[in-house]
Amino acid sequence: MNSMTDNVSAEIVVPKAGITGLLINNEWRTPAKGKTLDVENPSRRTKIVSIGASDEEDVKAAVTAASAAFPAWRRLASRARGALLIELGNRVTANAEEIARVLAAESGNALRTQSRPEVLGAAEVLRYYGGVIAEQKGETLPLGPGLFSYTTREPLGVVGAIIPWNSPVVLAAVKIGMALGTGNTLVLKPAEDAPLAVIKIAELATGLFPAGVFNVVTGTGIDAGAPLAAHPNVAKVSFTGSLEVGKLVGHAVADRIGHATLELGGKSPCIVYPDAATPEHIDSTVTGIINAMRFARQGQSCTAGSRLYVHESVWDQVMTKVVAKVKELKIGDSLDESSDIGAIISAERYSEVRAFIEEAINNGAKVLTGALPPTVEEAKGFFPEPVIFTGVDNSWRVCREEVFGPVLVALPWKDDEEVLQWANDSVYGLAAYVFTNDLTTALRVTEQIDAGWLQVNRAGGQIPGMSYGGAKQSGIGAEYSIEGALEAYTSRKSVTINV
Ligand code: NAD
Repeated sequence: MNSMTDNVSAEIVVPKAGITGLLINNEWRTPAKGKTLDVENPSRRTKIVSIGASDEEDVKAAVTAASAAFPAWRRLASRARGALLIELGNRVTANAEEIARVLAAESGNALRTQSRPEVLGAAEVLRYYGGVIAEQKGETLPLGPGLFSYTTREPLGVVGAIIPWNSPVVLAAVKIGMALGTGNTLVLKPAEDAPLAVIKIAELATGLFPAGVFNVVTGTGIDAGAPLAAHPNVAKVSFTGSLEVGKLVGHAVADRIGHATLELGGKSPCIVYPDAATPEHIDSTVTGIINAMRFARQGQSCTAGSRLYVHESVWDQVMTKVVAKVKELKIGDSLDESSDIGAIISAERYSEVRAFIEEAINNGAKVLTGALPPTVEEAKGFFPEPVIFTGVDNSWRVCREEVFGPVLVALPWKDDEEVLQWANDSVYGLAAYVFTNDLTTALRVTEQIDAGWLQVNRAGGQIPGMSYGGAKQSGIGAEYSIEGALEAYTSRKSVTINV
């Protein structure tokens, strides 16, 4: 792509110090080799800015700083660490609009429907961990007279956190909150496609934490992510991203018996029972189906309910309404306040999404709404309209793989056993959505679906405090809750005293 520099400076405030890309010991530095990477606006296909791109040498420097800061940081009272997280959360709230505009420009996620709520959610996550982290408690054990035994929750050391571009701000907040709250120090690597809003948060944190406690390395997965995952002094890697890269990270950590949390992809089912389509309930069910599919995030969500199964007795009325409502969504520039849906992140992802659509059409899928989008060369911005397919076979790629685009496959079902078998017929098990007003059905179905997060008659995002993580190949470990932080970011130390 021939990338022009965008005239967005009037519309967004790009990070200034953080343009160097590297935050080490509370100082913004340029990468040792002076490499840079371009951050682009996918709605306009223009360059926003160039930032520093780290490699192994820079990662080593960041890990060294984080290792040096660890002994003092871990000894601080957890509530004192928490107070700093609350302060960072408050700073994010105070600067939310500026961060949200940068996020919308770089990620393509529409400002009103996605980017603004994400930034406000990130501030909430930081304040949640800031408050709750004082609960980093151990246990006492009744081992009988003469023996007193207790456990403490010890931080692991340096955490390397690697995040994707699709919801970078809230994921950065989750990693910062859990790692720093529990007394670990952190080296955070944002995604190369959308690092700027995370850098803005890091700018707000500069000088807030003691030097070396919170470090940032920007750069590509190969040059910065891989050395971070493989570094022998990184005690734990918290990775959120694709299954493919998650496997590489898992291998790198296993080689040194390190700790890892892997939050990976999904191909989540959404099941509609007839009682959710009565005149009283059908509108909220239809809204739920569209929200579950994350159409307003171009379908670029790990929890997208991208396999829709509607009972055949209500198929016509539900699908007619779903299609009509999806067609009302306005696709456009992510910074435009009136856009419901923004743009796909990059030319590469856009081409991949287009290939899924083309292949399904060639296989004979019936298109209920949408069309094959223009090629990368023809597209002015990466805006595929939402596509809903039916007449698909569960063996097709579009039904099995994570499209990570606005592509929904929908099938009618009649047999309860069969739909549950379809729902579980995936290597993934991240999320699932069930629409029914019968409590017995809800309990039975949620019990039988293998997924980390099931929602009944709801299709919203994660809420701080809930345990969130995938089953099957959607990941290992859970985050978002205090329990998740304690399990994933601390180890138990047992002390047994002969009194
Ligand atoms: P990705 O796996 O391509 O990249 C994620 C991060 O890993 C980026 O920072 C990238 O630079 C880095 N990376 C790439 N190669 C690496 C390597 N060899 N070693 C170490 N790091 C490397 O994923 P993406 O395209 O940025 O994000 C989309 C994926 O993330 C989807 O699969 C989505 O489902 C998943 N995701 C999961 C969750 C969750 O909570 N489970 C949340 C958001 C996104």
